[in-house]
Order: sequence, then structure tokens, then C-alpha cells
Amino acid sequence: MSDCLFCKIIAGEIPSKKLYEDDEFYSFFDINPQAPVHFLIIPKKHITSVMDMTEADASILGRMLYRAQILAKAEGLEEGGARFVFNCKADAGQTVWHIHLHVLGGRQFGWPPG
Ligand code: AMP
Ligand code: ZN
Repeated sequence: MSDCLFCKIIAGEIPSKKLYEDDEFYSFFDINPQAPVHFLIIPKKHITSVMDMTEADASILGRMLYRAQILAKAEGLEEGGARFVFNCKADAGQTVWHIHLHVLGGRQFGWPPG
């Protein structure tokens, strides 16, 4: 999608600190980290949000979560754990309209979220 920030990052039109890339996914460190480790993983297919996914997207997102846990382990989060977050639409604070999984770790998180 031509006016999507994360599609532009995938295309290399906007710079990012890349963590991982394959045919299906792109992962990069968040520009405004909320924890000592904070990266995003996104599908190369433009899906707007969790609320917009189709049944056909379910397998993509399953593989994305699997890749996220491999990357979380590589970033040293296996022992302490991590928070895996999808912010979906306005009430949840979604600001970029290309589905993305946040992976945050390296500190203690509270519950419920604020
Ligand atoms: P959300 O609020 O769930 O939509 O999260 C969007 C995330 O994208 C935020 O945590 C931003 O800090 C992050 N972000 C926005 N622009 C960039 C960028 N150019 N590079 C890396 N992360 C970004
Ligand atoms: Zn996009």
C-alpha cells in the first residue's frame, strides 16, 4: 500500500534498524522503545489490523508469532519472558495501520495495562 509507513519500511524507502527479514516477514527495532528490548514484526502483506484479518491470514499470523518467539529468544528474553502485543484500532492506541506485533522485554511489566 503506497501511503503506508510500514510498507515503505519493508520497501526500504524509509530507513529502519532491521532485526530480521525473510520472504514473508520483516522485523525491526521500535523507534521509540518502551523497554530495554522493543522490536516489531510485520507481515510483508499489508493487513490493516487484527480486526481486518481474514481466515486466510490466520496462518500468516501464526507463523509471525512463531518467528517472534525465535527472535525474542535471540534477543535474550527466553528466561525473563516478554510481552507480545497487538494494539488494534483507536481504543487500543494503534497508530500505524499495518498490522504489527510488538515484542517487549528486559523489564517487569504491570497488569492490567494502563
Ligand atoms: P502502535 O501504537 O501499536 O500502532 O505502534 C506503532 C509503533 O511504531 C510505535 O511503537 C512507534 O514507536 C513505532 N514506529 C513508528 N514509526 C517508526 C519507524 N519509522 N521505525 C520504527 N518504529 C516506528
Ligand atoms: Zn502497509
